Amino acid sequence: MEYVNCSLCNSNEYKLFKEINGCRLVKCKRCGLVYLNPRPTQQEINEEYTAKYHIERLLRQEPKTEEEIQQQINKNIGRAEEIVKQFGNKGKLLDIGCSAGFFLACLKRYGWDVTGIDISEWASKFAREKLGLNVFTGSVEEINFNKRFDVITMYHILEHLPDPLRSLKRVSEIIAYDAVLVIKGPNLASFDRIWHGRKWRGYDPPRHLYYFTPKSYRTILEKANLSVQKIIFQHWNPVVHIMEIRFGGGIRADHPPGAIKRSRIYKNPSFRIINKMTYIMTNLLSLRGRDLTIYAKKRDGL
Ligand SMILES: [Zn+2]
Repeated sequence: MEYVNCSLCNSNEYKLFKEINGCRLVKCKRCGLVYLNPRPTQQEINEEYTAKYHIERLLRQEPKTEEEIQQQINKNIGRAEEIVKQFGNKGKLLDIGCSAGFFLACLKRYGWDVTGIDISEWASKFAREKLGLNVFTGSVEEINFNKRFDVITMYHILEHLPDPLRSLKRVSEIIAYDAVLVIKGPNLASFDRIWHGRKWRGYDPPRHLYYFTPKSYRTILEKANLSVQKIIFQHWNPVVHIMEIRFGGGIRADHPPGAIKRSRIYKNPSFRIINKMTYIMTNLLSLRGRDLTIYAKKRDGL
């Protein structure tokens, strides 16, 4: 374990924010950033990821048949359609922390030229060998890309990085002026967190090292010479929550709402009415869901 200073302002003054599963989440007294302190060292994290039991679990979970692989890819239709809706039918996309590459494989179907990068040896190998994708093994700081990208995505990555500011600075070096960075991650300042209390899925220590709010997301991006264009908040929807619990991985509360429309239960008229009513209600109360999506660009004149 190691003690660290605040990644945003380098202050070492903090107070206890919450203790979850024996892990201490602290709040920086100067800038308000919430982070895990103490936390596992990088070596301890690497040892965990390369441990025999961890690899064995990954291999057990690995989709084996073509059908299982397609199922995993299809779970990303909502995300892929979100990219197509925002940026059109073609372009070059880099996904930082692409894991086994299912999102990339899905987006490729729509005609996008996709590249990925992931620190996991197992995941990046799976993406290359089983999905035929162009995926590098390593961190964004280590790899030199000889291509320019229209879109760079970082989905649920920032909160895992040991030094998110350093990684974002690297992103601002490789991103073109007219390109867009899309970040997805948990929102500590959400109604979802209040609703779930200590069981909030956005916590997940010691895997999550940082717990951002819209304010701290903005600050860290600005410090990395990136500027926020817009933030899309997910609406807190109790129906999606129940479905996620009931149907597991098929429905993901953190995926765009399109996912729910493709589910079988959506064909049921009374379900559609309940869903619509809760949507209108939570919208009126502007209750925010677990995750948010940020669109950012490189800052002008830098
Ligand atoms: Zn701070």
